[in-house]
Amino acid sequence: MIGAVDIGGTKMAVGVVDDDGKVLSRMESPTEADRSYEDGLSLLVRMLRETLQDVGKKIDGIGIGSTGPVNPVTGEFGDVDFLPRWRGKNPVRDLAGIFKVRVALENDADAGALGEAGWGAGRNRSRLVYVTIGTGIGGGIILNGQLYRGVDGAHPEIGHHVIDPSGPPCSCGFRGCWEALATGPAMAAWFEHEAADSNSHDRLSAKRICQLARQGDALASRAVAREAYYLGLGLANLINLFTPDAIVLGGSVMKSADLFLDGARKVISQGCRFVPFEKTELVLASLGEDANLIGAARVWHQRFGQHEVACT
Ligand SMILES: [Zn+2]
Repeated sequence: MIGAVDIGGTKMAVGVVDDDGKVLSRMESPTEADRSYEDGLSLLVRMLRETLQDVGKKIDGIGIGSTGPVNPVTGEFGDVDFLPRWRGKNPVRDLAGIFKVRVALENDADAGALGEAGWGAGRNRSRLVYVTIGTGIGGGIILNGQLYRGVDGAHPEIGHHVIDPSGPPCSCGFRGCWEALATGPAMAAWFEHEAADSNSHDRLSAKRICQLARQGDALASRAVAREAYYLGLGLANLINLFTPDAIVLGGSVMKSADLFLDGARKVISQGCRFVPFEKTELVLASLGEDANLIGAARVWHQRFGQHEVACT
């Protein structure tokens, strides 16, 4: 039984997750950027205690997945712009002290990768790239059963590989990153720009654009084709770099994956001919709405449990 903690830009969630990856109880609260660390920590402790009471069990450990940058080795929070007062704080050490259990922390995208690898769509695949496409693009890389990390435990930023250097500016400083071209907001911004020329539409969400495309709207269909193209380019780059057994696709944009995957596969087949691209399966994430909590629990298992997907 693992206490799972998911810390993101909009909400903080906790839950109790059993050894099969099932969430038995959960609670959440808004993140609130001006929240002090002490206040946030006591909120997490309160919610954890309440969910534990609900389940009536004790926890063996706590796993945390958090939007980064966080240091998975020391447990320290880095320059997290969504919780600026948490910089340099260490919830791993503090929660371990309070609950008297071992605590492990990973970037939330790495936690998601571990969750899907352990209990989801990536099971039994030793080379796996997990990609989540929503308001941003994040991901985690598992190579030969090991979570890949860069120097000092750095989390690779797969959303920030450049697809088109003349593309829209990105938050990282480049132009035309995958994240600047293939997210939901990128799709919505393109649609709005094109619609302004034809004067036919207002600003719509990516979800609404997908609905319109299904109804045969011409501009929405172009937006969907464009999304499939940029999705495909980014996936093709990952396949050329890693040729993994599978790429697991999650995030809100992938709720409409059926609109994009054929187009993306076509792009991949055009540019990945030096690797056996057809052997890389594109599969949809399977852990659903609780994926972040399940991933956070998996973080503990991969660090301290006896599982195949281990991290060094
Ligand atoms: Zn970028």
